[in-house]
Amino acid sequence: MSEAAENKAAKRKVILTGDRPTGRLHIGHYVGSLRERVILQNSGEFDDIFIMIADAQALTDNWDNPEKVRSNIMNVALDYLSAGIDPEKAHILIQSQIPELPELTQYYMNLVTVQRLQRNPTVKAEIKMRGFSEREESEGTPVGFFCYPISQAADITGFMGTIVPAGEDQEPMVEQTREIVRKFNSIYGETLVEPEILLPKSSSARRLPGTDGKAKMSKSLGNCIYLSDDEKTVKTKVMSMFTDPGHLKVSDPGKTDGNPVFIYLEAFAGDDAPNAKALFEEYAPDYQNLEEMEEHYRRGGLGDVKVKKFLNNVLQETLRPLRERRAEYEKDPDRVMQILKEGTGYAENVAANTLASVKRAMRISYFSV
Ligand code: ATP
Ligand code: MG
Repeated sequence: MSEAAENKAAKRKVILTGDRPTGRLHIGHYVGSLRERVILQNSGEFDDIFIMIADAQALTDNWDNPEKVRSNIMNVALDYLSAGIDPEKAHILIQSQIPELPELTQYYMNLVTVQRLQRNPTVKAEIKMRGFSEREESEGTPVGFFCYPISQAADITGFMGTIVPAGEDQEPMVEQTREIVRKFNSIYGETLVEPEILLPKSSSARRLPGTDGKAKMSKSLGNCIYLSDDEKTVKTKVMSMFTDPGHLKVSDPGKTDGNPVFIYLEAFAGDDAPNAKALFEEYAPDYQNLEEMEEHYRRGGLGDVKVKKFLNNVLQETLRPLRERRAEYEKDPDRVMQILKEGTGYAENVAANTLASVKRAMRISYFSV
């Protein structure tokens, strides 16, 4: 590369982010990452935006259920498009269709120790959650699953991603990627770019809890409000949500800390929400903002039903435009597949360029210059 080309490459701003097609996307994905992606996409500040449907990664713990992974490709694509991802501005791609990614993974595997992977806190928590056994060989942790942080490093660097908008559970993954990049560059010469994670401002949106009050809303835990849930389903889920168990009578003082209903409100009608002011004006005009509502709840005199009704209105208002866009795209699945095909094709070209630079740097480009 010439010096000018190098400078240009160094300054490129590229987004890489994605989701596993293990189920429909939920409101945790929305506040944790999707909402931010759409804002960034529309900012016009990025040279390239890649949104990846991580089917190969989903197979690392769903290898015995390929149909689940396959059917969720369309669900996730519809979730993206309905959330406002614009295929004119962002490339949506399917991970397994890009063979350069596992090839990069293979070379990066030499740069990471088993011990380092073992202390990755997200991998640790996910191994526990999935019940992989430490003793039983046949029920142990699949090697593919154990190594998925390395394949994530290939995904990020394969597209030269510089910004990764994601939830808190992805922090250790991006850190692992940064380590791989530094090690690669120090051994083989300056080739890869170190990415940075972009977390939501409020902690509620970084890790939205489940409707059951469990620490994380997660497709695998079945405690989700899905972006594609209809109005009635959302309302039923909200009205049966877990709140402060000590708040029995309306007049009782209530706890807002750790109360999922208030955590959702923080994510959807608090500082992180672009339309918070309008939501209060329309649906809770007695309060200027969430802080005032929280104070009232803590003082006593504000009932759970009233707060849940407000939350329901907030969610319906947020989801309405998504439902309208979804209805349009659902009519035309061929168009959605075409969007995925084009996005994947574009992405493969970029990954092939990265792989060529990686191989050159590693001195294994025998037949090309
Ligand atoms: P699975 O249970 O299959 O791992 P998941 O619900 O954790 O599914 P992923 O596809 O692993 O979803 O995560 C996709 C993105 O959404 C990541 O950036 C992740 O940080 C973010 N995310 C997932 N769940 C939440 C949540 N509850 N709150 C905020 N962000 C989340
Ligand atoms: Mg996950």
